[in-house]
Amino acid sequence: MSKITFKDLKIDPNVLKVLQEMKFETPTEIQEKAIPYLLDSNKHFIGQAQTGTGKTAAFTIPLLEKLDFEVSHVQAIVLAPTRELAMQVEEEIKKLGKYTGVKTTCLYGGTAYEGQITALKTKKPQVVVGTPGRVIDLIKKKFLKLEKTNICILDEADEMLNMGFAEDVQFVLDEVAKDTQLLMFSATMPHSIKSMIQRSFDDPFMVKIEKKSLSNEDIDQKYFIVREKHFKEALARLVDNAPNIYGIVFCRTKLETKDVGDELKGRGHLVEVLNGDMGQLERDHSMKKFKTGKVKILVCTDVAARGIDVNNLTHVINYGLPRDNESYVHRIGRTGRAGMKGSAFTIVGSRNANGIRSVEKHINKKIELAKLPTIIELKTKLVEKELEGAQQIYEA
Ligand code: ADP
Ligand code: MG
Repeated sequence: MSKITFKDLKIDPNVLKVLQEMKFETPTEIQEKAIPYLLDSNKHFIGQAQTGTGKTAAFTIPLLEKLDFEVSHVQAIVLAPTRELAMQVEEEIKKLGKYTGVKTTCLYGGTAYEGQITALKTKKPQVVVGTPGRVIDLIKKKFLKLEKTNICILDEADEMLNMGFAEDVQFVLDEVAKDTQLLMFSATMPHSIKSMIQRSFDDPFMVKIEKKSLSNEDIDQKYFIVREKHFKEALARLVDNAPNIYGIVFCRTKLETKDVGDELKGRGHLVEVLNGDMGQLERDHSMKKFKTGKVKILVCTDVAARGIDVNNLTHVINYGLPRDNESYVHRIGRTGRAGMKGSAFTIVGSRNANGIRSVEKHINKKIELAKLPTIIELKTKLVEKELEGAQQIYEA
């Protein structure tokens, strides 16, 4: 297979320079399809590719080339489902656009209007990234004007609709300038999205990247059958057995995240919890600690974690079988990225063990049934670790 590099893609040298600084050499599949097309065309575009495949850069790179930096009105709007995702997208636009002089603003709910209104008025951003609710609020209050947009991007569209934003998103699509190019990126294509496409995306160009990495060889997938009442102990052993863990523990409910978080903390682990019940500040705080690696374990629900881009995870642990197969794929896709090895462990109740079969069918791959590390193995590990520490001191 011939390897296309970013250099082959006629990208603005200002952006190419950042890609080089970031050590991005070859585009991912969706980038390889989307970037050349979008650099060349103003047609509507729909890109489907699973989580972790680089969709953000796939639209950010062409987006930057479609802006006129001499002009200061909103030329582009990006909608994302959550505040965290919106902020992440804004960061990426700022990062890739750092030599272009692009001006951006992020608009999201759960915080005062004032700062955002001031930013719109004084900064005069060319690109606005936001969550649907706050964006339409600001449109209705007449602080955000979309009559001169060239491009509108719906990121993580499936999740936006899942979260009940269909009407809000439609409102924005109806609000942007008439010839605005519409882009949609989504991991899945549920019916609700198809109807939105039919309504608003006239004759779009569609790209679908098949889920190849479902059977990602870099992810070591195992499951453990455990009685529900022993789940916590099982989790604790898996964590103890992975001294260098940097991972996410996925729970099924908010209550469970708290419970599991408390348990791990009680056992001396540094843990952050992330769930929808927490206030924005608290969530930001948790996320930051995890992203910067101050805390090595994040316990969360699917919704809280969707799209959160944290690299280099060593482990994804499913505390109980995920609610559906697609969710399993999204979760484990957070490890084993970009050629690194990762582990995906699933703790499953003895009564739900059949659910694993269904996951295996979905990903077309067998998941290995494994045994939990025994206390003796864990002790040996602990001793080894201590010896290692001693050796280092000795060598130093
Ligand atoms: P998605 O939106 O598809 O879930 P992201 O845009 O969040 O994926 O990208 C996932 C990760 O891959 C990010 O950490 C990003 O920096 C990284 N990435 C994206 N494109 C490339 C590339 N061409 N080479 C290396 N890493 C990349
Ligand atoms: Mg994304």
